[in-house]
Amino acid sequence: MSPNQTPALWLKHIRQDVQSMHAYAIQDSTGMVKLDAMENPYSLPPELQKQLGERLGALALNRYPGDRVNVLRAKLAKYVKMPEGFDIMLGNGSDELITLLSVACDVPGASILAPLPGFVMYAMSAQLQGVTFHGVPLTANFELDEAAMLSAIATHKPAVVYLAYPNNPTGTLWNADAIERIVLAQGQQGGLIVMDEAYQPFASQTYMDRIARHDHVLLMRTLSKFGLAGVRLGYMVGPQALIAEIDKVRPPYNISVLNCECALFALEHSEVFAQQAALIREEREKLSHSLAAISGVQVFPSQANMLLVRMPDATKCFEGMKLKGILVKNVSKMHPLLTNCLRLTVGTPAENAHMLAALKESL
Ligand SMILES: *Cc1c(COP(=O)(O)O)cnc(C)c1O
Repeated sequence: MSPNQTPALWLKHIRQDVQSMHAYAIQDSTGMVKLDAMENPYSLPPELQKQLGERLGALALNRYPGDRVNVLRAKLAKYVKMPEGFDIMLGNGSDELITLLSVACDVPGASILAPLPGFVMYAMSAQLQGVTFHGVPLTANFELDEAAMLSAIATHKPAVVYLAYPNNPTGTLWNADAIERIVLAQGQQGGLIVMDEAYQPFASQTYMDRIARHDHVLLMRTLSKFGLAGVRLGYMVGPQALIAEIDKVRPPYNISVLNCECALFALEHSEVFAQQAALIREEREKLSHSLAAISGVQVFPSQANMLLVRMPDATKCFEGMKLKGILVKNVSKMHPLLTNCLRLTVGTPAENAHMLAALKESL
């Protein structure tokens, strides 16, 4: 509003749907135990911090990113055992790849489909691109509703179906046979499937070993949940011809030399991150058992670095935990299926103990 409270003249140039939307809310976490965003609680060991600092300091920051991103693409391809005939593209986080995909697929009448509750960026990127989004509710215990998915695919013939594997915010790893039938149905109607494996470091299964059977499946991963959320690096693997098309809408220098070098450094030290992931998986199991033992709390099976819990009054518990310095995510208003649910990111053993105590006291 301008000082005299009349809307600014330029407001008519801002899309109506943008004016009515809320900006993506990032909770203020100053001074809190931060267990709201599936970040890895561990930082780099001091010796590695020093090495990385020297490497970053020596980069040619005066130059646009060059061939080094291709080195990173090749190393990532090797790291994930990318099959023959496939290619890999990089994004400024997977979020950017999700956006680029809705740009590339924005033909008249196009739609994007995903199970709900799911990752919010699928719907948001579609909406911002003016592409219709179809959400298909999960079952009450957060499994894929296979019949509903197949019927929605037949009805809407979406350009893209997203399957987060495991899912956010539920942590669910979908049934492999159900996935395969959905992948086939989507392929038969001529659409694409994206397997979003953001939580792969914490999961017992990957689709990578099945991807080569199809020519319409893309697989997305990110370094964010792996331990480098601050670096902003996501990647997408798919059949060469398909990646070549999507890559045309990518801004040419979307990966900074700093992102790129950090990612290369992380791959050289992947055993450090693998160890951290193993600790987090162990902690998830312990935390899950402890939560299940609390009367009134229901905890859902998870293959990610978070646990979804249901309780009598999630908002009361969330606020109580916050007063005790523990920040988690209140997802209870995100979707009707998530009524009275909180999403708890798995932290260090000390953080988890602190969180557990705060949760019990706040029920
Ligand atoms: C966190 C998350 C991402 C993305 O993250 P970036 O930080 O943008 O790489 C993608 N998909 C799912 C399901 C996520 O939970």
